[in-house]
Amino acid sequence: MKQLKALDINLKVINKIITNLKSSSVYFKEIIIVYLILVIITYIKDNDPASALFIIIAISILFSFLFYYIGDRRRREIAKIKSVIADIRNSRLNVPEEILLENNLSGLQEEIRDMFSKMKSDIEYLKKLERVRKEFLANVSHELRTPIFTIQGYIETLLDGAINDQKVNKSFLEKANYHTINLSTLLNDLIDISMIESGEMRLSFRYFNIIEFIKKQVEEMIPVADKKNITILFKPEKDKLEVFGDRDKLRQVFVNLIQNSIKYTETGSLEIEIIDEGNLCKIIIRDTGIGIPEEDLNRIFERFYRVDKARSRAVGGTGLGLAIVKHIIEAHNSKIEVKSRLNEGTEFSFHLKK
Ligand code: ADP
Repeated sequence: MKQLKALDINLKVINKIITNLKSSSVYFKEIIIVYLILVIITYIKDNDPASALFIIIAISILFSFLFYYIGDRRRREIAKIKSVIADIRNSRLNVPEEILLENNLSGLQEEIRDMFSKMKSDIEYLKKLERVRKEFLANVSHELRTPIFTIQGYIETLLDGAINDQKVNKSFLEKANYHTINLSTLLNDLIDISMIESGEMRLSFRYFNIIEFIKKQVEEMIPVADKKNITILFKPEKDKLEVFGDRDKLRQVFVNLIQNSIKYTETGSLEIEIIDEGNLCKIIIRDTGIGIPEEDLNRIFERFYRVDKARSRAVGGTGLGLAIVKHIIEAHNSKIEVKSRLNEGTEFSFHLKK
């Protein structure tokens, strides 16, 4: 047993020596060159062959130790680096400061720490993306299911006999049609948001007259506002004000904001104001509607976020309008702002370059 243990220890020592020598083998050429130079010098300088032989043996022993020592250091350094990499791979480290190498490897230590920090933030980002993707998918399925089930319900009831009931057949068909329109609006919004978020939205910037542009949008919205007895006020000081932007995308912004103001206003008015601010033009859309609670103000631009889900659906909302608006305004290097007071009204504003 003792002999086996001794043999095992010896094998370990031999193994270590071999590993160390292997580790220093990268310096083999350099060490051998220096060794040979020393040997040749000794041989030439020393006239006494016995003394030369003695010095050469001494140099050989010294170089063997040097060889072993260099190998040992190198092996330790590599082992430490390997263990740091294994710790990173097995998620055993929490902060970059836990990565510690020897002083002479401080440059490498910094590189590994930077790589670790980048990897951590990339992983966090990917996890967040995955969460957002799952949430989005769940929301989309839910949003699609609601109108589809409702349409299905009306059609089934009609097929089960209601089609012959003069009192309900037309109104059921009208309701099914209303939900089909909502479904198509939702699909269009979904296509828009996915194009925007996948970076496929192409903007085409041009100068155009914002006053004339808004007048046109207002004219188109008047019939919708009239139905709810809401007045749209737009009294610009000038007839012409050129801004730089994508007309089509900005039309989408105005339609969304004006439609929202009409949707969420019971009585009163909706006012559009244009302020010339030198290099910029400020656009304000203000209503006297139901307002938005303070705690919801910074969430209304999130996809599918609604202050009141039932109400939003009842008025044909998809919950995507403001998310699309925000993306388009940001693509114009601007920011959409909102101020609101519950039961008093809401004001959306943004700037465009002139
Ligand atoms: P929706 O399709 O539901 O209207 P949006 O993204 O356009 O979705 O708006 C998000 C939510 O913000 C709405 O559900 C509504 O609660 C609120 N909101 C938007 N505009 C107004 C407004 N002018 N007045 C009151 N609430 C508003």
